[in-house]
Amino acid sequence: MAHIARTDGLTTTPGGWPLPFTGEPMATSRVVVKNPDAELRKYPPIFRPGEELAADEMRVTCTGSGNPVVRRGQAAASWVVECGHGDKFVFDVGGGSVQNIFSLEIHPSLWDKLFVTHGHLDHIGDLLVLFDAMGWARNTPLRVWGASGKTEELGIAAICRHLEAATSWHVESKLGYVPSTGAHIDTTEIDYDAFSPEHPESLVYDANGVQVYAFPVMHCIYGALGYRLEWNGLSVSFHGDGEPNAFEAHRVEQVDVMVHEGFLDAPTFAEKNGMSIDIAKNVLHAHTTPDMLGRLFSISQPRLGVGYHYFVNDDTIDPFFEGLQSTYDGPVALAQDLMVINVTPDQIVTRMGETDLLHWTPPPPGPSGPPPDLDPHSDAVIPDYVADTRLPDK
Ligand SMILES: [Zn+2]
Ligand SMILES: [Zn+2]
Repeated sequence: MAHIARTDGLTTTPGGWPLPFTGEPMATSRVVVKNPDAELRKYPPIFRPGEELAADEMRVTCTGSGNPVVRRGQAAASWVVECGHGDKFVFDVGGGSVQNIFSLEIHPSLWDKLFVTHGHLDHIGDLLVLFDAMGWARNTPLRVWGASGKTEELGIAAICRHLEAATSWHVESKLGYVPSTGAHIDTTEIDYDAFSPEHPESLVYDANGVQVYAFPVMHCIYGALGYRLEWNGLSVSFHGDGEPNAFEAHRVEQVDVMVHEGFLDAPTFAEKNGMSIDIAKNVLHAHTTPDMLGRLFSISQPRLGVGYHYFVNDDTIDPFFEGLQSTYDGPVALAQDLMVINVTPDQIVTRMGETDLLHWTPPPPGPSGPPPDLDPHSDAVIPDYVADTRLPDK
């Protein structure tokens, strides 16, 4: 069953960019060549789950290209990275994104490392949906990284503590039915106070050849992060939301793929979302317009610059590229949900993915050992006057 569907026969904008749901990526360069002497790998025109990932390459997939106003065609902010040696990482889980993540048909227990850029709900709204793999698919804690706050309550540890507390009925009700060893969020709080001009970034993850660095970005209040992941000489960065600034741009100079938000202009944002122009301008103050995104890319000079967190509609695509290309002429793409980027030592290839709308969960990875012991059932039993009337099995 296809994810891609368009019935009006249109394929491009007036400016010539592919329209959404045509199976074509909105990209200036579907193949960015890093090594002109290399023999380049060929890929199927559409990515589908199960496609082999070579041992030396990385796959970056947009699992949420949109905004707080979640739409069927655009989940809120989320990206995943798969490394050729098997490690997988999630960067933000906005509302609706876990549908896209699980549609990649990778066992949910492998999506257990989440890096949060900031606490806006359009970046963490599906955290509990990801957490819900506990018991039936994931028997180890969900691991979450994020920033400390100006106060303890504004830090990622408090956010996750409150979210976990909100699962009490859910977890208690499942005791004795499914393993509970995965019913915990293991949070690593990144010390925001440690950043300074002399210490502009922190190594926050270093395992199995993968390094993830965090750095401050400028978004509303204290505590928003960007991340840069490095593995096997390849690199990709995620900036969540924020006002464009040179500090973040210098953290990601010459990365392979730089993923940064790009936001509608205020009049269009106001008109399309039925809000006042003043409120639209206030919102925009904390974000990056396409022309400013181009200026950021001009400093960072990524091999591929990617805009996301944009309302991708037939009539918004041309203005995005016009704005971006007024300030930058390097390779760029505008993300839609399930845009897939393969990064190898020699090239960067951008395609659209197609996933099954009604996929099943694949088998768990690795040898299946004995399942964890089950806990005793909860004492919070259903009253006898109801339970005693349970209809007997036939
Ligand atoms: Zn935000
Ligand atoms: Zn956002």
